[in-house]
Amino acid sequence: MTIEFTLSNRQRDLQAGVRSLAQSIVRPQSLRWDREHAIDEDFLRNLARMATSMGHGGLGTSASLMRQEEEAPAAEKKPKSQNLTTVLASEEMAWGDAALLLCVPGPGLGGPPVRASGTPEQKKRFFGIFDDLTVLKWGAYALTEPTAGSDVAGIRTSCRKDGKNWVINGRKCFITNGARASWNVVFATVDPALGRAGHRAFVVEKGTPGFSVGRIEDKMGLRASETAELVFEDCRVPADNLLGGEEKYVTKEGFMTAMKTFDNTRPIVASMAIGIGRAAYEYARDFVKDHYVLSRPIPRYAAIAERLARVGRGLAAARMVTWRAAWLADEGIENAKEASMAKAMAGQAAIRACIDAIEICGAEGSIQTDHALLEKWFRDIKVYDIFEGTGQIQRIVISKRLISNLKSF
Ligand SMILES: Cc1cc2nc3c(=O)[nH]c(=O)nc-3n(C[C@H](O)[C@H](O)[C@H](O)COP(=O)(O)OP(=O)(O)OC[C@H]3O[C@@H](n4cnc5c(N)ncnc54)[C@H](O)[C@@H]3O)c2cc1C
Repeated sequence: MTIEFTLSNRQRDLQAGVRSLAQSIVRPQSLRWDREHAIDEDFLRNLARMATSMGHGGLGTSASLMRQEEEAPAAEKKPKSQNLTTVLASEEMAWGDAALLLCVPGPGLGGPPVRASGTPEQKKRFFGIFDDLTVLKWGAYALTEPTAGSDVAGIRTSCRKDGKNWVINGRKCFITNGARASWNVVFATVDPALGRAGHRAFVVEKGTPGFSVGRIEDKMGLRASETAELVFEDCRVPADNLLGGEEKYVTKEGFMTAMKTFDNTRPIVASMAIGIGRAAYEYARDFVKDHYVLSRPIPRYAAIAERLARVGRGLAAARMVTWRAAWLADEGIENAKEASMAKAMAGQAAIRACIDAIEICGAEGSIQTDHALLEKWFRDIKVYDIFEGTGQIQRIVISKRLISNLKSF
């Protein structure tokens, strides 16, 4: 086994470029976006152009890159580093503002299932709409329901075939970009009694009769990101929009489509958490440098320094596990356990970082000013231990995988 920690020149350049953008343009606007619950469209348009030229779009990969990869002959396929590169860029951007990453136009979380399970025709159709970068467009991923969050297998949104259409009924909730998306990948079941084998994944386009948007959530954190409820009432979707076509669903493929998405996106979400945690850690570190080194009693300084060290090593360890999970995905190696480890570790390490940073700064840490964003990061970070599978669920995935393969971890 080769152990390689060196980033390529391209990855280092990207990391430095995103870091500079995050510092000079993103961070200064972060609190305003949070207060306004929105990010300026012109800014998003420019960012989408830039992200596409660098091979990134929304949470996942850019639409054009996804299509190029699918269409290229095997010999011309790009070097396999897309997941790791996205993880690197995501940490830097989340350091500037985490909600922004969820708002970048592109297929977003809807991209991976279309990429994993769509037919060539579906990929062309659904990714093709993102080619025109002058118009802001999003994709989204609709799995969660009021009674099925962690228990993904328990979804109740129903689907039944009717001639050349499928008819969908039910509700989805907490869907990132769900209201503004040009299409949502929607998971439904032909029969709840069949469990996972009954699941189907559809691409439901905006404007489809019977599809409407319910409540837009007023959230504690990531307030610039839109989180929507989606309603399906006898919503008729053309059979061509069943992801992968009917033959995909002879086995448990529909459910597997949902799970494959998580194996790719959990390391990205983990890297975003690390970005927020690092922002809080750096703020507290600088605060300590300015306020403690010469002016406070040594025992108190020593205790604070030990605390900073604990936060720093937690984030560094989570970053290593996250990079490995992304690298495994790039290599096409099964990474469900590692993706869950990354998500579980990063969420906890970053929450710890935000709590400790506020405590280290004392009262000043809890106040909102244009320069001090600890209070915002504290609100933003909690959800990283909730969405894309809660911390408890990650630990269940990890323990199941460890127990089924007792020889190694
Ligand atoms: C900002 C935001 C954006 C989101 N975006 C999307 C999106 O784009 N698409 C989408 O489909 N969903 C999205 N979600 C939903 C998210 O994925 C769910 O909230 C998450 O999966 C948890 O589900 P739940 O909220 O129903 O909690 P529940 O599943 O009800 O869990 C509640 C508590 O019980 C615990 N628990 C549950 N089962 C077990 C168990 N077996 N053992 C031990 N503990 C357990 C959980 O860990 C948690 O602490 C989003 C959520 C938020 C907050």
